[in-house]
Amino acid sequence: MAAQRISQVLQVGIVIVVIATGALSLSLLNGELLQKLAINKPTDKNVKGGSNSATSPPAKNLIVEVPKSFQRQTIYQAKLKATDKVIALTFDDGPGPKNTVQVLEILKKNHIKATFFVTGEMVQAYPQIAKQVVADGHALGNHTWHHWYRQMDTATAASEIDRTADIIYKTTGVKTALFRPPGGYLHNGLADYAKNQNYTIMMWSSLSGDANRHSPQVAGMIKNVLNGAKPGSIVLLHDGGGNRSRTVKALPGIIAGLKTKGYKCVTVSELLEMQAKEEATAMKAVPAVTKNEPANNQPHQQ
Ligand SMILES: [Zn+2]
Repeated sequence: MAAQRISQVLQVGIVIVVIATGALSLSLLNGELLQKLAINKPTDKNVKGGSNSATSPPAKNLIVEVPKSFQRQTIYQAKLKATDKVIALTFDDGPGPKNTVQVLEILKKNHIKATFFVTGEMVQAYPQIAKQVVADGHALGNHTWHHWYRQMDTATAASEIDRTADIIYKTTGVKTALFRPPGGYLHNGLADYAKNQNYTIMMWSSLSGDANRHSPQVAGMIKNVLNGAKPGSIVLLHDGGGNRSRTVKALPGIIAGLKTKGYKCVTVSELLEMQAKEEATAMKAVPAVTKNEPANNQPHQQ
């Protein structure tokens, strides 16, 4: 009797192992295929066409773009006129179940749009929150899959960035041109690969200090951001990568302080669009050369 029981248990066990192995190899195959698809995909064509059948996203195609002149560039802040009181709040390392949700509530209450640099593994773990970020009108950026700092060969860098782009797209329908290297490391292989893929490398110009080993108290974080606020600033904050309850507590004070100083919060893409427009206007303002002039005119040197 006991022996029969053991054999039954064994049989069930074997069946489970077989099913699990099948599922695992299927999902591996799937991941590999998707990765290949992502690598082979010509950068944005599929998205703009909007008729991608094989990897149809759940949401409509949404593109987080930057003006062409910013492609492959490393950007620390937008260069704007001193009178353009706009600033971009950015949140890294989410989406997470607690802090991101609280950050979203605060942003919504204040009618503010921000930019979230998400990791692939967090999007995979919390797809609903990633969707909520997009539904609320915020911009997404790619922050790699594992958030590694170490030196990477091209294949590893490609996997870190492409897998993340893929899960962002499959989960939210967003294709993003924004990449932020974990820790701001620009020389470990990630930024080079991202540039080759036409990403804009989005750094920051203003630190809240919320990810420092001895991160400041709430009042200190608010002070850091407000003191560093300039037209076109990009502020680094975190909604993941640890307990960010102090960031959440500081956020209403940061927003209120910026408002008092006359600042409006926008996404980083919007900041760059403003800079591009201003530069275009400045070029038009240069006398004697306009688009409508005869072809024998000297080309514009810039
Ligand atoms: Zn990070």
